[in-house]
Amino acid sequence: MMGKLWVTPEKLRALLCELVSWDSITLTEGEQAFAPKLVEKFRELRYFQDRPSLLQMQDAGLGRQVVTALYKHPEATETIVLISHFDTVQTEEYGSLEPLAYFPEELTKKLMENPEELPESARADLETGKYLFGRGTMDMKMGLALHMQLIEKASVEQWPINLVLTSVPDEEVNSAGMRAAVTHLVRIREEFGLTYKLFLNSEPSFSQNPTDIAEYIYTGTIGKIMPAALFYGKETHVGEPMKGMTANYIASFLTQRMEWNDSFRETDLGESTPLPVSLQQKDLKMSYSTQTPYRAVALYNVFLLKRTASEVMDLFEQVAEDAMQALNENYSMICEREQVTGIGSVKVLRYEELLTYANKKLGTEQVEQLKQQTLTNEQWDDREKSLRIVDDLMIQCQELAPATVILFAPPYYPAVNTSKDTLIVEIVALMKQSALSFNNKVDQIHYFNGICDLSYVNYEDEGKGWTAFENNTPVWGDTYSIPFDDMAELKGPVLNVGPFGKDAHQKTERLHLDSAFVEMPVMLETLIKSLF
Ligand SMILES: [Zn+2]
Repeated sequence: MMGKLWVTPEKLRALLCELVSWDSITLTEGEQAFAPKLVEKFRELRYFQDRPSLLQMQDAGLGRQVVTALYKHPEATETIVLISHFDTVQTEEYGSLEPLAYFPEELTKKLMENPEELPESARADLETGKYLFGRGTMDMKMGLALHMQLIEKASVEQWPINLVLTSVPDEEVNSAGMRAAVTHLVRIREEFGLTYKLFLNSEPSFSQNPTDIAEYIYTGTIGKIMPAALFYGKETHVGEPMKGMTANYIASFLTQRMEWNDSFRETDLGESTPLPVSLQQKDLKMSYSTQTPYRAVALYNVFLLKRTASEVMDLFEQVAEDAMQALNENYSMICEREQVTGIGSVKVLRYEELLTYANKKLGTEQVEQLKQQTLTNEQWDDREKSLRIVDDLMIQCQELAPATVILFAPPYYPAVNTSKDTLIVEIVALMKQSALSFNNKVDQIHYFNGICDLSYVNYEDEGKGWTAFENNTPVWGDTYSIPFDDMAELKGPVLNVGPFGKDAHQKTERLHLDSAFVEMPVMLETLIKSLF
């Protein structure tokens, strides 16, 4: 029996620390360098030395790549897709300890020297010696390490099933990695004659409150979409306020109706979405002057369980219509009081209506040119680009003002849930059983509330509910797209089973050692073997 590289708790811990040491903050060079390093690491396995074509990289844009490592049994077609992301969030919050953020053993030792500097719950955990601190330990390089261990075991022991490890960049920002992986997974399914039986992610299990140490498995994931608006008023000088209308005045009506609006709340299987809030609201004036701000933008966060993009757009439009009606009533009262005629009433337009209007007025060529100027600006991200495109079109079509133009800004994560799938029901029971052997308890949550890449598989939508997204996302098809057709091809139940940890995205990010190195390897192996 040849020695395995990643199989004992000690070796797995060393593997995790190596993966963490390859710092890979989203949108940095480290993120670009990670995929080739990971491929090199897989080449340490004899299995891939003999079968180089089973190790592949797929371009995910901006110099980043998706890695797939396929363990293929000669006779099996049934395949489990193991999903992880290898990017992490930034490390500024570590302060003077920042250089150690990627060295979990050293960081954890260093923290021991001044434990009183940590918040109470983190200090208590540190002193138990049961946690390893560091950026990416919990979220989610441990999940990747566990998947690597499964690939090695399967290949050495020749498990009669196929596994496709899929590790992606950009999960923390736009999920460009997973969106690229979807199309790649459809292609390798054809290339190797695979049938996908399960999409298994191993994002960490989050505690539901600071003292909660129960472990959770997730049989779906919450969705997220961002309705946005551009408010176009009319400029004037502060000395003549009634000759114009500020965009801030317009924005205030919509934002007040979007914040905590419970018509966006969805409930399914006893779980509910958090209420919407604004993520950004600003005017587009570049600097201070006595000209009033007449263009502003706002971005709202909406969580989803069942609704499609089209349903959210209908609801958002209704809220915007109500808001503008209230504004128009308020405004005409003020005009009456001040004895002026006013600049007219504010209307609501969808981006697609503005685009149709602009194409007619300016011609598609000029509209395309305007869009390209914005799309090629490297200073702006996809959200800024979306809003700037609408702004440019409105500047050319000012006769539509005053107006509130509604749109979607990226990213969009559809919700997915397969709690009722019979395979999932069986696996959940098995995982509860398996945890008992460690005197541990596992609870099921139907929607992972941390946003994850499972959103991009098993897409179910009979009525083309995504068309409102395609038609109202200004950067769609240029700098942002979602492969809805390929996502619908990746039919299969989804599940998230990962190690327990705390404080993702904080300097106290930490991984529970027994969960990661003792329990999870057994639980995941049990899970996969149950599918033979
Ligand atoms: Zn994560």
